[in-house]
Amino acid sequence: MKIKIENLDKIYKNGKRALSNVDLEIENGMFGLLGPNGAGKSTLMRILVTLMKPSNGIVNINGFDLMKNREDIRKILGYLPQDFRFFSKLKTWEFLDYAAGLSGITSKSIRSTKVDEWLEKVGLFDVRERNANKLSGGMKRRLGIAQALIGDPKIIVVDEPTTGLDPEERIRFRNILSELSQKDVIIILSTHIVGDISSVCQDLALLNKGQVEFKGSPEELINKTRGHVWQVSTSGFEYETLKEKYAIISTIPSEEGWEVQLVGDTLNVKNAIEIEPNLEHAYVYFMEYLTNQKSF
Ligand code: ADP
Repeated sequence: MKIKIENLDKIYKNGKRALSNVDLEIENGMFGLLGPNGAGKSTLMRILVTLMKPSNGIVNINGFDLMKNREDIRKILGYLPQDFRFFSKLKTWEFLDYAAGLSGITSKSIRSTKVDEWLEKVGLFDVRERNANKLSGGMKRRLGIAQALIGDPKIIVVDEPTTGLDPEERIRFRNILSELSQKDVIIILSTHIVGDISSVCQDLALLNKGQVEFKGSPEELINKTRGHVWQVSTSGFEYETLKEKYAIISTIPSEEGWEVQLVGDTLNVKNAIEIEPNLEHAYVYFMEYLTNQKSF
């Protein structure tokens, strides 16, 4: 599987530019789309799943042109939108059966096997007779995941997947996706939470104000941040000055005042120790420091 995005722009009817010149190549495995709220992640995803047309640019999905072969692309897609809703009258298993039908599984017995299999996988087998709208928030989210995956899609797009999930459910969800990513499948997941992608995505893009600020592996992103992350012990007074100049990552109270981790290009602060960056440091460096440098 391969997705190639070239020069993609999206300008909404009200004149809002949500994507600017986006170029990305996405291959098999898990791809993270990371950025703050309003960065353009949902817009890009809605374009990829053919719910919205771009203003400009080309998207090619495994040889299919997104503008010309919309039906072919829809057949290989599974999408879990951020605000997933479903028909309230259906029982949990009926809803999945319906989703399986939509994905093109015509045989009733195959659908039935698949429905049971997915009810088990997402931990909803025991509540299969319950009306879907009576499920808890986390359960609804899991049903959303199952409906996106039941048709064995080749391209899976999940928007802010862990919203509303508790830690245990997050892990379960992550495991389902990592299992799928071993196959000939692309999984794109968008999030504003660095922890969602740090251990699972081979590649990622940082999106800010509709533009790609970085694309590559998490390791490359971390490497680019090396030499820009510092730890300083400081008193309350110095802390205020630091806050004005640098992007602060964390502040822990200590005997001297504060133990502060921050990112910046050069640091003229005594007792500053350079520390090994992690993905969260890298995210702050790129998104809050480099892209807003003038304000620091
Ligand atoms: P994200 O998913 O990263 O939070 P979105 O793609 O939802 O970002 O939004 C990107 C920008 O486009 C935001 O400024 C948002 O307000 C704007 N936007 C989103 N949808 C619409 C719309 N239907 N009409 C106009 N502007 C929109």
